[in-house]
Amino acid sequence: MSLKFLVVDDSVTMRRIVINSLKNLGFPNYVEAVDGRDALGKLSANSDINFIITDWNMPGMSGLELVKAIRGDASIASLPILMVTTRGVKEDIIEALQARVSDYIVKPFTPQILKEKIEAIIKRT
Ligand SMILES: [Mg+2]
Repeated sequence: MSLKFLVVDDSVTMRRIVINSLKNLGFPNYVEAVDGRDALGKLSANSDINFIITDWNMPGMSGLELVKAIRGDASIASLPILMVTTRGVKEDIIEALQARVSDYIVKPFTPQILKEKIEAIIKRT
């Protein structure tokens, strides 16, 4: 399966880290977005995106709002969403899982963790 990622983070440095990890893992195809609103625009413009990696805390539309918007839109609701965030407290993780993120990584993360989470999600979908 060929994966095209949408990498959503307000930090250009963090987007670079995620994208470089993806490239090293053999996933060269990606689109970037700076917040949830931008991500929704990129999703409508790129119907071949089939995996979303999103931050939570972003100015404008947050990652959690993005997850809710995607899960509420039948045309994109089944897309895998991996949340990568500094928000590591239990309540936050529960809230994200209730919003139906596919999985959750707390920053800082290793490329190995990213790989394991992506593979586990793909296996389930
Ligand atoms: Mg952020």
